Amino acid sequence: MLNYSVDAEGIATVEFDYPGKSQNILNAGSMGAYAEAMQKALADPAVKGIVLASAKKDFIAGGDLGEMAGCTDAAAFHASISNWHKLMRGIELGGKPVAAALNGTTLGGGMEVALSCHYRVAADNPKARFGFPEVTLGLLPGAGGTQRVPRLVGMQAAAPLLMEGKRIKVAEAQKIGLIHAVVKVGAERTAARQWVLEAIASGAKPLQPWDAKGFKIPGGGPATPGGMQMLMAANAMLREKTYDNYPAPKHILSCVYEGLSTNIDTGLAIEARYFTNLVMSPVSKNMIRSLFFGMQEANKLASRPAGVPPQKYTKVGMLGAGMMGAGIAMSTATAGIDIVLLDTTQEAADKGKAYAAKQWGKQVAKGRMTQEAADALLARIHPTADYADLKGCELVIEAVFEKREIKADVTKKAEAVIAAEAIFASNTSTLPITGLAEASARPANFIGLHFFSPAEKMPLVEIIVGKATSDATLARSMDYVRAIGKTPIVVNDSRGFYTSRVFGTYVSEGMALLEEGVPPALIDKAGLMAGMPVGPLALADEVSIELVHKIGQQTRADLGAAYVERAADRVAAKMVAELGRLGRKSGAGFYDYPADGPKRLWPGLAGHFPAVADVPSVEQIIERLILVQSVETARCLEEKVLRAPIDADVGAILGWGYPPFRGGPIGWLHTLGMPAAVATLDRLAERHGSRFAAPRILREMAAKEERFYPA
Ligand code: NAD
Repeated sequence: MLNYSVDAEGIATVEFDYPGKSQNILNAGSMGAYAEAMQKALADPAVKGIVLASAKKDFIAGGDLGEMAGCTDAAAFHASISNWHKLMRGIELGGKPVAAALNGTTLGGGMEVALSCHYRVAADNPKARFGFPEVTLGLLPGAGGTQRVPRLVGMQAAAPLLMEGKRIKVAEAQKIGLIHAVVKVGAERTAARQWVLEAIASGAKPLQPWDAKGFKIPGGGPATPGGMQMLMAANAMLREKTYDNYPAPKHILSCVYEGLSTNIDTGLAIEARYFTNLVMSPVSKNMIRSLFFGMQEANKLASRPAGVPPQKYTKVGMLGAGMMGAGIAMSTATAGIDIVLLDTTQEAADKGKAYAAKQWGKQVAKGRMTQEAADALLARIHPTADYADLKGCELVIEAVFEKREIKADVTKKAEAVIAAEAIFASNTSTLPITGLAEASARPANFIGLHFFSPAEKMPLVEIIVGKATSDATLARSMDYVRAIGKTPIVVNDSRGFYTSRVFGTYVSEGMALLEEGVPPALIDKAGLMAGMPVGPLALADEVSIELVHKIGQQTRADLGAAYVERAADRVAAKMVAELGRLGRKSGAGFYDYPADGPKRLWPGLAGHFPAVADVPSVEQIIERLILVQSVETARCLEEKVLRAPIDADVGAILGWGYPPFRGGPIGWLHTLGMPAAVATLDRLAERHGSRFAAPRILREMAAKEERFYPA
């Protein structure tokens, strides 16, 4: 855990060296060892000063999230965190100078360990990042971070670090005063030791700024006019952004306000209570499970079929240089893979490449990329109209028009050129993969790779396994998704797959509410308050009401008598066929899009969908907008469209911005508890219809008191 040594001049070196991991992490074990080492050094009269260091390439990556996610005993947690505070105060007031040598990235609890030292010197390591990512997982920096950071750098500079989890580079960390000095890589321990020797020689008792007489918070405390103004603005911004769904940033603000209104020891006691509250909250458990462990599992390809050798990609083909094709080409080129971008004419293919040039040009203009780097990426994109250029591609992806015949045609033409073992993937958003694979001479190598728009930015790829798709094709496709830095989820073939199917229920429910006479402004506001990034009607405009209409018609045609008409079908038909309002692309949908200002709800809506007198409460609307997604997701699990609940949750958050505080559509059922979730669905089904009917899988789980995730 820790290496401990004392040199001839009485300087103890306490070196973090977490066994069996590439990173140092803080948990009960490593903190226990640290406490023991520091107490020994403080008590030993032969030790005059202390240097903290790391045996890994970084300093400390942060706290052990598994330990926090699994914590169920609030009193025990509070006691242990109070002990950390005692230890850190003991170090600060122990009379011996302590310096931290930060060789690399120092985050979260690691930064807090460093902040309880009298001096911090960092290596000039361009890869190193400093900050407090806790808030991004529903937590706060609870080992003194909310108290020491603003006392050190002022409330203004502390805000983005604590409340947004912003990570900064070494130069900025020094500039704002988070660290004292920056030295050449490799010189940080010597520099820390030098400072300790000088501090000993000075004979003065080492003190933190907040323990010195006459200490003043840089820039003023909460009770100064500037401080008050900053806190009021931060609070207002927070509410506007989060609708109070995320307790962590709010608690951080409370820690800063309450803690900085008093002395550091009381401040730490206040922080310990807020921290315990967050660790116990379902929000942090949901966020840690989905955003951290779920994402990690997906990115490590935990579900990749075993026994298939990893596939390296050097050349990929892209059919269709439209919006999706150009974006996928950008992502592929960025990963250092050559990409043949094919369209019906050279001109159309060039247009796709021009899109990439424009996007990267913007990056260059913003100073985020050099012109040289942009040119190198562009050189990897080869626009063409000639199928012969696909020769040598390990993978070809099609993103041509959403028409079966066109997709069949390009599949045949590409397969005539590419090697027998090459993969052919479709980026279709609605057409079942098994059907499309009928055009293929090698359906085992045929798979769905469903990207999201804009493809160069969106992090998720939904991989769709058709009936004939082989495990090897799946495994090798997963390798491609990781190679381009995206996160894959794997689903089985079905109408709308997983993401479009569930995301569609949110939009449809919004349209059902409109038909019932709920004021549209209330519907979209409720969507935002539910935590969704966009209200359902605004979203319908974005994806186009026409598309909602078309998909409804297609599904009706495919299912025949089995099709159950939905309110959304009637609303979409009225908007498109009767009123000619197709959505944003036509400049008119549920909203108007005036050229000279922001969009606003179309005043004519009220005439076509008159408001009821008995408007449901915003809570009732939120419940419907959220649970309609959960119940459809549960059906996807029951029908084995989804292979694992965590895929549902990761896919929802990354794919359509489902609110992370709920954990995901399944995470939310887990949060409610299965019996309560089923009871609520029964109530909703009785009032609003069978779309809310709890599937068997949920009833059985409720009866057996089972859960999707550990308690
Ligand atoms: P788009 O209209 O922007 O681009 C389609 C491109 O395909 C055009 O450049 C067109 O010239 C080209 N094309 C048409 N027929 C061709 C052929 N025979 N050979 C070669 N090129 C041909 O469409 P898009 O939005 O990029 O969508 C493409 C596909 O991706 C569709 O299947 C769509 O369902 C799917 N998709 C779209 C989105 C989205 O948000 N737009 C998201 C996921 C998936």
